[in-house]
Parts: sequence; structure tokens; C-alpha cells
Amino acid sequence: MTSFDSLGLGAPLLKALAAENYANPTPIQQKAIPIVLSGRDLVGLAQTGTGKTAAFALPVLQRLGETRRHAGARACRALVLAPTRELAAQIADSFRAYGRFLGLSTAVAFGGASMGKQVQALARGVDILVATPGRLLDHVSQRTLSLANVEILILDEADHMLDMGFVHDLRRIAQLVPAERQSLFFSATMPPAIADLAGQFLRDPMRVAVAPQSTTAERVDQAVIHVAQTAKFDLLDALLNEDVAMARTLVFARTKHGANRLAQRLTSAGHAADAIHGNRSQGQRERALEAFKKGRIRVLVATEIAARGIDVEEVSHVVNYDLPNVPEQYVHRIGRTARAGAAGRAISFCAPDERAYLRDIEKLTRQPVPVVAHALATAPATPASAQAPRQHRKPAHTERPKQQKPAHAERPKQQKPAPQQSKNAPAKKPPARSHAHHRDEGDRRDRKGNEVWSNAAPQRNRRRRRA
Ligand code: AMP
Repeated sequence: MTSFDSLGLGAPLLKALAAENYANPTPIQQKAIPIVLSGRDLVGLAQTGTGKTAAFALPVLQRLGETRRHAGARACRALVLAPTRELAAQIADSFRAYGRFLGLSTAVAFGGASMGKQVQALARGVDILVATPGRLLDHVSQRTLSLANVEILILDEADHMLDMGFVHDLRRIAQLVPAERQSLFFSATMPPAIADLAGQFLRDPMRVAVAPQSTTAERVDQAVIHVAQTAKFDLLDALLNEDVAMARTLVFARTKHGANRLAQRLTSAGHAADAIHGNRSQGQRERALEAFKKGRIRVLVATEIAARGIDVEEVSHVVNYDLPNVPEQYVHRIGRTARAGAAGRAISFCAPDERAYLRDIEKLTRQPVPVVAHALATAPATPASAQAPRQHRKPAHTERPKQQKPAHAERPKQQKPAPQQSKNAPAKKPPARSHAHHRDEGDRRDRKGNEVWSNAAPQRNRRRRRA
């Protein structure tokens, strides 16, 4: 088996890796480290949880350590761009941990934190700067930072950068860094827009991929439960009561408001829960994350963007309370569980009007998400296309970079009080089957019109078996 030693890493890094208890490099590390050490540009197709941070941090540290030179005042030698402050903070922590015996300096620059402290940290120059694009450009425009001495540029989670509307900022940054540099580009997926962006950053890159494009993390055990929107809370409550294995559950909600409300309802129902999203202060976010990491809360409700970069080991379950309308986000979300070899489970709640999203996800991952039965489930009786006309492919972000206008905080119809429904017995006769556009919890028949009331597994939708 390949060892870190054989990849060409020096003693200070090997010592730090031993302290981290990393026995062997992960596949992305095996492939990427020698390329980065050789000085070539790299495009890495890797999902979160694969060890991609160390795949770039280790060789970057080694290269900076080999050619020790001072960055210069208000400058940096390696610049890492990340889409969120959480991810930026975690990347910086990784650089500090791996580089602890090298004596290189690392700083962060992201919004929501004091500008003054960052200015101070940058004043003498740093070896490694990890930044979000918006705050980085703030520093550049205030002349508290120059990018003229950047030797290595790293762009992490490029697909999220694009989703979050950072593309113009990235193009500007690309113009501010020297043309003569090494560039590393990481993304979980590579749709054409990302490939375009990569083309602007990289020169004759080597390409490494640890999973086929858009393939969902294999270790994640996935499931979907078809459920009425109004029954989703009861379903989550029931699952948490039924399954003690849901020890550390990350729940994705679509909106900040929805995330808050869900965390409150869970708390009222006796589950230790908190929420993490962009409207919460940095302190609140850090406290919630810490409580989740330490196991003081069992459920962390997060919005898509706030959850980026959350690196909590042993997330036992990811629950998609709302299905993402951008299928790539599904891959990212479920990548939050089953990190670094651990087993994990992802459960998606699919309301009738989300079935088109499920179909898109299955198309992207090229695998069906197994349907599981539950007393609160409904049958996916009608072909998804008849149920859910696609409204938008654009991400319905509720948290955006600050240059954009805030989006609506909530979907128009959400979380009416859950029906007082017995888990085992039907409360009333199901309504006659119709082809009305909106089918809801009343629909408890399978495609053949048979009633499906209790634990019977809803039938899979056969329509998506297209090439
Ligand atoms: P990443 O994909 O960079 O977010 O890393 C996911 C997790 O894997 C992090 O918690 C890392 O600390 C951990 N990790 C990275 N490389 C290794 C390795 N070679 N051995 C064990 N754990 C690792």
C-alpha cells in the first residue's frame, strides 16, 4: 500500500500526519500529492470527505517550506479560496495542523468576522491565506492585501462557488494574481460551467478524479421516503424516536426560517437540536457546531450553504427534509456523512411536488435512490413528470453572497401543522384518485390503484429507467 512517505513528503509533514493518526493516504491524496509537488496545475474531481483538503494542503506546505521566502508585507504566497467561512476556517485549521512543524504562517479572511483583526494578521504578510472571495476583494480594494506575490492559487469547491454567484469575483481574482503561478482547482462535479471556469484558472492541468463524475459517495446508504409536505415533521420526529442509530443527524432545510422553525419544533418534541444558517452570528454558528461535534445536540438543522464545509466526523445520518432542486447539491449534502471511511446513511423526504427533483438526482447519480416504507409514507403513485413540472433549475438560494439581493426567506407554503395522524391506522378513507396537479397526503394508492396504508413500501417510479 502507498504510504505518505513514498509520496515524497518530508519529515515535518510525516510527523504531523502521525500526530493526526493518518496511517495511509486516501486515493485523492495518492494521486494529487505527487502532481502538486511536481509544480503542475491540477484539476481534482473529488467530493468532500475524500481527504481532498490534505491532498492539496500537504504538497503546498512542502513546496512553501522548500523555497522559504518572505511573502512581503500585506501579501501571501499561497491563496486558498473557499465558498464559505466554515470551510475556510476548516481549511486553515488543516494547514495549521499539517504544517505545525514547518513554521509557516496561516491566516483567514472571511466575512462576518472583524476586518481589523484580519488586517492585522495580514500586515506582515503570511505564507498561506485562506479566504472567501468577497472578503478577499474587500481587502484588496482597501489595499490591506496585494495578490501580486501569490505563487500557488487553490480554488476549493468550485461548483459551490458558482452556485453562490461568486463567478465574477473569481474572474477578478484570477486577474489579480500573477500569471506565473501554480493553480489547483477542486470540485465535486464538473458541469460545463465549472469546466469553463477551470479553463480560465489552469494551464495544462493534470486531471485526477476519485469517483466518476457526479457519482454519489458509494459508502452512503441512501433512501427516500415519499411523504406529504405536511407530514414531514411527524416523519422526522418518528424516525428520531424509532432509530437510536441516528446519533448525530444533520438535517437539511431549504430556508433559514424553515431551519430555525424546524430546530424549535424538534426541541419542543424533546430532541436536542439547533440550527446553523447565514442569519446566525458567527458565534452562534460555532457554538451550534461545537455542540453537535461534542454530541451535546443530536440534530443539527442546516441550510445548504451554512452546511458547506462542516467537517464533523461521525455524522451518522443526513436527512434531506427538503430535496434540493439542484441535483449536484444532493451529492454534496450526502457527502457530509460517511466521511473518511465511516459508514453513513442519507434519508430524503420527497413530497409530491419534489418528485421531479428526485428524478433529476437519480439521473445525475445514475442510480436509483431506494424507496423505503414507513407508516407515514405516501405512495409515489403518479409519474413524477405529471406531478412536478420543473420550475427552476437555478439554485433557490436563501443565503447569498452579500452583493446579491436577499431572496425570499421562505417558500410560500410550508409546514402547516402536521396532521394528527395515527401511525398505524387510517383516519379516513382516501379521496378518489384523480389526476389533479396537487396530490397530497390523501394519496395512499400505488400505481395500480391499490390502497397503501400502513408499512407497505411505495412502488418505485419506473419512468426513470431511461438511458
Ligand atoms: P476532506 O475531504 O478534506 O474534507 O477530509 C475529510 C476528513 O478525512 C477530515 O476529517 C480529515 O481529517 C480526514 N482525513 C483526510 N485524510 C485522511 C487520511 N489519510 N487518513 C485518515 N483521515 C483522513
